[in-house]
Amino acid sequence: MTPSYPVGLIWLRRDLRLADNAAIYHAARHCAKLYCVFVFDDSILSALPQADRRVEFICQSLAELDAALRETSGRPQTGLITRRGLPQEIIPALARQLGAAAVFCNDDDEPSALARDAQVARNLKAQGQLLLRYKDHRVFGRDEVLTQSLSPFSVFTPYKNAWLRKITPFYLSAYPSERDLSTRLADLPNTELRSTPTAAELGFAPDTLAGLRLPTGVSGARQLLADFLPRLSQYKAARDFPALKGPSYLSVHLRFGTVSIRELARIAYESMQREDWDAQAREGAATWLSELIWRDFYFQILSHQPYVVERSFKPEYDAIAWEAGPEADALFAAWCEGRTGYPLVDAAMRQLNTSGYMHNRLRMVTASFLVKDLGIDWRRGEAYFAEKLNDFDLAANNGGWQWAASTGCDAQPWFRIFNPVTQSEKFDPDAKFIARYLPELTALPAKLRHAPWLARPLELAEAGVVLGSSYPYPVVDHATAREKTLARYGILKSNI
Ligand code: FAD
Repeated sequence: MTPSYPVGLIWLRRDLRLADNAAIYHAARHCAKLYCVFVFDDSILSALPQADRRVEFICQSLAELDAALRETSGRPQTGLITRRGLPQEIIPALARQLGAAAVFCNDDDEPSALARDAQVARNLKAQGQLLLRYKDHRVFGRDEVLTQSLSPFSVFTPYKNAWLRKITPFYLSAYPSERDLSTRLADLPNTELRSTPTAAELGFAPDTLAGLRLPTGVSGARQLLADFLPRLSQYKAARDFPALKGPSYLSVHLRFGTVSIRELARIAYESMQREDWDAQAREGAATWLSELIWRDFYFQILSHQPYVVERSFKPEYDAIAWEAGPEADALFAAWCEGRTGYPLVDAAMRQLNTSGYMHNRLRMVTASFLVKDLGIDWRRGEAYFAEKLNDFDLAANNGGWQWAASTGCDAQPWFRIFNPVTQSEKFDPDAKFIARYLPELTALPAKLRHAPWLARPLELAEAGVVLGSSYPYPVVDHATAREKTLARYGILKSNI
């Protein structure tokens, strides 16, 4: 195919890999010469905390990507251009400087990203250049899985069934982007031949999180995937137990595109049909695929109903009066810091605060606790997760919170309220996860660790636990809080 443009610019954003990358594939087909750029967006960076593991993740992933570009081309003068500032200004200026007729990128349907891209496109157009966007970070785009009446789904199971009916190998096959890119990469101007910045160079303090270091970049994703594949067949049985190594831990890589969603969905889809696997193992793969479909589901909710960023999916749920004032603020602080007196909730929050990760079961438990035990607006919890989660993704985080608060789509009715103690007994039966994050309770026998306030004084004394001192009393009584929540949500009965 004869290239349509002599020069093109690839703008990488949440797709930090060369292999199976839609924008790179299309750019390489259409351009004779290519440059790649990543912009550290000041409007995003300025809102982040001083030490942010995600910035480190990006910096390390970019350093790897820069090296991969040189390796692909076989020439040291190639590599990644990095800039800091506002993409609305930087991308058009760079495209003009390099003489790129078109800028290629993968789409991002978050409302702020759409607004940014629209402005970039307008600025490029004013110079006679194009912005071309491609679907890459999800299997199905905004309008590819719709109801029979061509409206978006608002309930997961029918969405998933339609997704599974539509899927074919075509949607899951990899773009040969890396191969095509190798011959197209242009030498960088001398001024651009420098290494990618570190987080410190961007003004961020060193990451002080005590938890495990995140394997970064494409190599980190490969490492996690290789570790997970032998566990895929056991996923269904293990995934709900936070003390076990059940899930893949790939979410941060899906967030920044250091792994391709098509590759993961293909592995899951093919594995659930493997004839050499028994039914239970195939169920493991099918369950994992289902989680990947949840991801697509929340993307399509956000792109069709962008108002969910501020409001409840069902508008009538905005009538709920949440707790506010100093007492609610104190309860919110106790939740954030893992001081609620409910060990599973506290252990989960400490996992989040020390590692930037929280197990899915615990995201559901802690979110439910904040909203339905403490009566605090889900948006406050959503914002806290957004600040702390390495894998923070607007669509999945908002969807998860609206699910837990029962204000959103799908079937988690408001009268279904998680009991933090029975969740603990069921999903952390030996209280091992609790012991990992709450050393002050480790000496208590496992069965007492779920609800230490129910232990006898002698049992507490033997374990060195002083309630109200070494570990808090529960900040609320669950049964009472449950009644309050039923009354709080009861307002909906008259509104619906
Ligand atoms: P695995 O179990 O290995 O799942 C594989 C992948 O599927 C995940 O990496 C993720 O991309 C996707 N996935 C799994 N479960 C869900 C789900 N319920 N919704 C959407 N995608 C899913 N996930 C995020 O990626 N970012 C978030 O900001 C986020 N916030 C959440 C907030 C709440 C309140 C809840 C209940 C869930 C949230 N999730 C979020 C979904 C889920 O908890 C994480 O994706 C999962 O824990 C990540 O771990 P993993 O990669 O080991 O998952």
